[in-house]
Amino acid sequence: MNKNTKISVIGAGFVGSSTVFALMNGGLASEIVIVDVNRDKAEGEAMDLSHGTAFVKPVEVKAGDYKDTKDSDIVIITAGAAQKPGETRLDLINKNYSIFKSIVPEVVKYNPNAILVVVSNPVDILTYITYKLSGFPKSRVIGSGTVLDTSRFRYMLSEHFNIDVRNIHTYIMGEHGDSEIATWSLTNIAGMDVNKYCEVSCKKCDGELKYKVYEDVKNAAYEVIEKKGATYYAVALAIKRIVEAILRDENSILTVSAFLEGQYGIKDVYMGVPSIVGINGAKEIIEVPLNEEEKKELEASAKTLKETLNNIF
Ligand code: NAD
Repeated sequence: MNKNTKISVIGAGFVGSSTVFALMNGGLASEIVIVDVNRDKAEGEAMDLSHGTAFVKPVEVKAGDYKDTKDSDIVIITAGAAQKPGETRLDLINKNYSIFKSIVPEVVKYNPNAILVVVSNPVDILTYITYKLSGFPKSRVIGSGTVLDTSRFRYMLSEHFNIDVRNIHTYIMGEHGDSEIATWSLTNIAGMDVNKYCEVSCKKCDGELKYKVYEDVKNAAYEVIEKKGATYYAVALAIKRIVEAILRDENSILTVSAFLEGQYGIKDVYMGVPSIVGINGAKEIIEVPLNEEEKKELEASAKTLKETLNNIF
């Protein structure tokens, strides 16, 4: 890993500031620049975070303008309107599209070689928009996709089975939103598919449980937003995980939002699919063997996203 790593975070709200906190804790950058239209907010967050630098690996955290982001290795975009109670992620599109039209050209101007990680919602649509506005190669524009949703899914299964979350292997794929799909056919624990594992453990894995777990994953953000107004800690850790995979050139498989060009029979859309993530971004999409029902659900998720894109482009 390069010892002079620079990361810029656009948007100093809940998600942006929690992300900087997670990156600092991970010791992943030597310089972090925070940009926000609300300069006071960016400065306040940078000050608060800087006051803790004595407890982490050396890092300079500062607020700045776009020119201060110059030559960042990674630019993370978290700016924009967030979901309000009752609002879907797709409801945010118009507000955030116009915000992105002002952000992306500035980011590109100062960071022609950076990898762009989009987090703002609707993340798959905004990642596509960022790809188009930036003119960057597709591998260097990725969205946080369903990395967070996959973590939620693994957590909920780990709670059900009372097993370490790191031993639950599965994915949520498709839209980061209401049409996302759970890949039950690929879910495995200790080398056994989830149904087999169920037989040897709790024996309580009927269709009702699967339905409930999937609904809980899909509705997790709505529930957290209803209770505390926003979600930010888990997504910040998900972003940190993506950044780590890039900077350490890990070739980790993560369900980032990546650009499909025929994989799964789907093209010209960004959505969460298992992808190999390393120093050049999302270098390859893996086509996992979904069953027929999952394939249809994934196609339907892509269709939902495409319909939204067709209204924009
Ligand atoms: P927030 O309202 O706390 O922060 C948004 C920040 O963006 C504010 O500080 C605002 O001043 C800033 N901003 C607005 N317009 C800007 C512009 N033109 N340039 C620079 N900064 C600008 O919201 P939040 O809770 O931090 O959420 C941020 C985004 O992240 C939302 O779109 C939310 O839906 C999304 N989100 C995504 C995930 C995911 O998994 N992808 C998870 C949680 C939240």
